[in-house]
Amino acid sequence: MRILVTGAAGFLGSHLSRYLISKGHTVIGIDNFITGSVDNIQDLLKKPGFEFTKYDVTNYLHVPGKLDAVLHFASPASPIDYLKFPIPTLKVGALGSHKALGLAKDKKAIFMIASTSEVYGDPLVNPQPEGYWGNVNPIGPRGVYDEAKRFAEAMTMAYHRYHNIPVRILRIFNTYGPNMRIEDGRAVPNFMAQALKSKPITVYGDGSQTRSLCYVSDLIDGIYRLLMSKENNPVNIGNPHEISLLELAQTIKRLTGSRSKIVFRPLPEDDPKVRRPDITRAKKILKWTPKVDLEEGLKRTVAYFKTKVR
Ligand code: UDP
Repeated sequence: MRILVTGAAGFLGSHLSRYLISKGHTVIGIDNFITGSVDNIQDLLKKPGFEFTKYDVTNYLHVPGKLDAVLHFASPASPIDYLKFPIPTLKVGALGSHKALGLAKDKKAIFMIASTSEVYGDPLVNPQPEGYWGNVNPIGPRGVYDEAKRFAEAMTMAYHRYHNIPVRILRIFNTYGPNMRIEDGRAVPNFMAQALKSKPITVYGDGSQTRSLCYVSDLIDGIYRLLMSKENNPVNIGNPHEISLLELAQTIKRLTGSRSKIVFRPLPEDDPKVRRPDITRAKKILKWTPKVDLEEGLKRTVAYFKTKVR
């Protein structure tokens, strides 16, 4: 297949592009580098199966030649990034999805949207099945991301229903692994950088809020299975192993052998109290389950961050 990946220089976009190339597909990558990095694709730039253009997907998209799939992965994705870039976050989810859908329609290609567990907001049911409609504050600080992704899902379904294009709606839960930016502000990179630099490990709130962390290779496997399936409805991809943030901080401290203190900081506004994917649909439809357990995934990620911290 000849596949367009937006956000190809980002954390997930770069892993996904590398995987697609390893499966023999050709990838056209685009990224505007507001949160992506050329370091993530340095190895891919040398490969014949990878073409790259620096471009902002919120502008008119023109790609010469055939395309079999358009995978829209461009977006700031960490809370501090979308606080810093609220309008680009809204634009890439809304206008960028529209451009990417228009391109998919024109090329008769499959369209995939990288959606998110944030569509469930601060959920009132746990775990979250795809049928749950969510609890989102539209005007809160996270609203720019949550609502852009909800709009993107709505538009994706509208193109599917009205223009008949095949679509894949992937709801990604917290994912971690190599190629995350050390300063990206999310819990795993923050805790690892802090632990490795012997700085205080900053747990927000009392640390009782939960998340369920998926190692990146498992996520990419799930994405590929969804792409190759015929499923047009949303599918959660994530690891259902749920832990508190305090437990995560303690685990990272132990795995790094760090002497850092764990300190408590105010909980950001609208921070979800719980999050855990119900992956019944992914198991059934995609025959997918995550394989890498938290300790193993964190060890691999620590090895990566050790090369980045000085
Ligand atoms: N968090 C924390 N300390 C940090 C960074 C994040 O305690 O240094 C908390 C954050 O408040 C949230 C959880 O970790 O409850 C996961 O945050 P992250 O930014 O990784 O992703 P989210 O799931 O909130 O999008």
